[in-house]
Amino acid sequence: MEFFRPTTWDEALAAKADQPEAVPIQGGTDVMVEINFDVRRPVALLDLTRVPELRTWSLEDGRYRVGAAVPYTTIIEELGGPLPGLAQASRTVGSPQIRNRGSVGGNLGAASPAGDSHPPLLAAGAVIEVESRDRGVRMIPAHEFYLGVKRSALEPDELIRAVHLEPAAGPQYFSKVGTRNAMVIAVCSFAVALHPGEGRVGTGLGSAAPTPRRAFAAEEFLRRELDWSARLDPAVLARFGELCAQAAAPIDDVRGTADYRRHAIGVMARRTLTWAWNDYRGKRAA
Ligand SMILES: Cc1cc2nc3c(=O)[nH]c(=O)nc-3n(C[C@H](O)[C@H](O)[C@H](O)COP(=O)(O)OP(=O)(O)OC[C@H]3O[C@@H](n4cnc5c(N)ncnc54)[C@H](O)[C@@H]3O)c2cc1C
Repeated sequence: MEFFRPTTWDEALAAKADQPEAVPIQGGTDVMVEINFDVRRPVALLDLTRVPELRTWSLEDGRYRVGAAVPYTTIIEELGGPLPGLAQASRTVGSPQIRNRGSVGGNLGAASPAGDSHPPLLAAGAVIEVESRDRGVRMIPAHEFYLGVKRSALEPDELIRAVHLEPAAGPQYFSKVGTRNAMVIAVCSFAVALHPGEGRVGTGLGSAAPTPRRAFAAEEFLRRELDWSARLDPAVLARFGELCAQAAAPIDDVRGTADYRRHAIGVMARRTLTWAWNDYRGKRAA
């Protein structure tokens, strides 16, 4: 197995262009498990841990640009205020050790339908910055990034550089059902983000379809029916839950049945919207 250790982003892009089958490794919390269990035997590894800019975040033109290798711990400690949905999801990932090494870039690279960062990225309207040496930068909206089970829009010669997110314009919540409280892959998960200025609510479903996805019909329903100056209408809330459950296309597997997942998505959708709405109304009243 060849092992590349670029020290700059340009060197990393060149190595990926020259050897597209090289597997990038950042925190290694997915890659090393696959190698150790012989699920994958890459011909080459591309170690990105020496490319410093991947581990930094910045605020540029009013948007957060979070480097692909920024670990979950940093997101929790430094970005919980402006990016609450992503920070909440980060808190549920693995254990402290996994959160110290694991990254949103790695979660995106793995593109597992159960990855915890995906629902809040979808709900918040994140954009993924990817780059290749020969074709330059592409900005991919999160809802166009996931193509299939563990398949993404990333081309073989591209690397993920950063994730771009607006600071939260309203309350955001993430909810995850697991078979226990920590160190658990989601049975299913759900994220909601209120965008009051646009009169819009963003959604993200996890582990409930071949890819993480938004509940577009549910979002459209709220855009029409939600009265932003009133209490949350129970009928609107109930219909929102139904439409989110209908957006799921889950499977039966060792972690849960399709029926349970569909039901749980409806419950989490109602719960998270209620939490977010109470925060929103509370702030307006204060
Ligand atoms: C014990 C344990 C518990 C876990 N618990 C959770 C959990 O609760 N929730 C959850 O979502 N995940 C969990 N995971 C999975 C893993 O920690 C996450 O997916 C994490 O986000 C991976 O990040 P990483 O930096 O370690 O990625 P790596 O392992 O380094 O890489 C993951 C994938 O992304 C690709 N990749 C990495 N960086 C780039 C890049 N810059 N450009 C392109 N491709 C790239 C790699 O080639 C690989 O395919 C767990 C893993 C373990 C071992």
